[in-house]
Amino acid sequence: MSNIAPPAGKVWLVGAGPGDPDLLTLRAARLLMNARVIVHDGLVEPAILELAPKGARFVSVAKSRSRHTLQQHEINALLVREALAGNEVIRLKGGDPFVFGRGGEEAEACRAAGVPVEVVPGISAALGAAAAAQIPLTHRDAASMVTFVAGQCKGLTEQDWSGLAGKGRTLVIYMGVATAEPIAEKLIADGLAPDMPLAVIENATRPSMRVLRGPIAGLADLVQRHRVKSPALIVIGEVAAREDNALRALAREQAPLGHAF
Ligand code: SAH
Repeated sequence: MSNIAPPAGKVWLVGAGPGDPDLLTLRAARLLMNARVIVHDGLVEPAILELAPKGARFVSVAKSRSRHTLQQHEINALLVREALAGNEVIRLKGGDPFVFGRGGEEAEACRAAGVPVEVVPGISAALGAAAAAQIPLTHRDAASMVTFVAGQCKGLTEQDWSGLAGKGRTLVIYMGVATAEPIAEKLIADGLAPDMPLAVIENATRPSMRVLRGPIAGLADLVQRHRVKSPALIVIGEVAAREDNALRALAREQAPLGHAF
């Protein structure tokens, strides 16, 4: 009696962390070191990709930098196709696959096609950036809530942000550099004190990391003056002004501060 062939391959949705290869999980590193097929996006550092064995096949689905941009549905189809062809596919994503990484959609596509999928968490940019800049996202005296939001146009216009920033809470904005001005306007219009501290952390955990600080009212100016580029996070709340003074001095040496607290 012939058996029905078992599902051949598998997809691993793997978080690559915020940049520094040392911040990979052991599981992610092990999977990479044994990988045959790696589908990765543009945020993954070359040093991380170099962990893969020689002969591994890399498929870049970089969304912004590549000319060969794939739509999300095409990425989903690619993962399913590779797995059904018998491959164990490592789908490597910046940060954590399930934090603004569209990992949910990819997992759904795999399940719908009968492809087994496993998820390996990664250190999300908010956690990596907070650690690198020594900004505690929560603090017994300053914040007992933390919210992650997507700051690109869609997230900004379609969601109610009222109450997300303010005393006793920390707001972390992903993908908010291009929309810095409307973000600040929206939050202040919602009642946020214009002098609420914030930090912009660019290229967190990478050698080129910059930490810029200022009040929310000066956000657009800060981003413009320092030509902040993606990837960067905006952390708004009292915790942004609580960092260790020695570190603050170091940051001042590395990059001019927007405003000193
Ligand atoms: N899944 C990722 C987020 C992808 S969305 C995660 O969990 O981190 C992409 C956004 O993440 C960027 O626009 C930026 O806001 C943030 N980001 C990713 N890596 C970053 C880094 N090294 N430094 C600062 N922000 C980063």
